Amino acid sequence: MPAIASSKSYRVGRSKTGLGLFATMPIKKGTRIIRYFGPILDSRIPEQDDIENKYLFELNGRWTIDGSVRKNLARYINHSCRPNAESDVRPRERKVFIRAIKNIEPGDEINYDYGTDYFKAYLKPIGCKCPSCETKRKKLRAEARAERTKVKARTERKAKKAGATKKKKLNGHAVGKKNGRARA
Ligand SMILES: [Zn+2]
Repeated sequence: MPAIASSKSYRVGRSKTGLGLFATMPIKKGTRIIRYFGPILDSRIPEQDDIENKYLFELNGRWTIDGSVRKNLARYINHSCRPNAESDVRPRERKVFIRAIKNIEPGDEINYDYGTDYFKAYLKPIGCKCPSCETKRKKLRAEARAERTKVKARTERKAKKAGATKKKKLNGHAVGKKNGRARA
């Protein structure tokens, strides 16, 4: 039997991108945190196949969970590219559980990787806002800034040097003339 987190182990709260699910007590790695549930849709029934919402969770080619129901608090769990939980998909039982893959501390936002299809359809077009991607973006921005500063400094140095060289050349020329080292 896997460890199952008590219902008090999480709460819905404000996250950077809207709402999210947060741990209210330590959750050990491997613990089942919450079930992702909702009506089961059958792709063989045409009118069920064309329901479009971002809370659909595909179990396999045939069955999909419509997680948009209010009671399904797991729908608040946001995507992360470096998550602390994962979806444990059980197509045969037609169930999905969200399970901790790291020790989660109280106050931590719970997240899991929504997978490539979701990422491509919903996140890539607007840019993923998960903490991991935000950190990466910040780092890239800082690097770009540092590079710009470096280039600017180099350009300024070159300009100064060019000015200095000019002077030096003039001086050199003058000195050269004075010394009369030229054969002429
Ligand atoms: Zn991301």
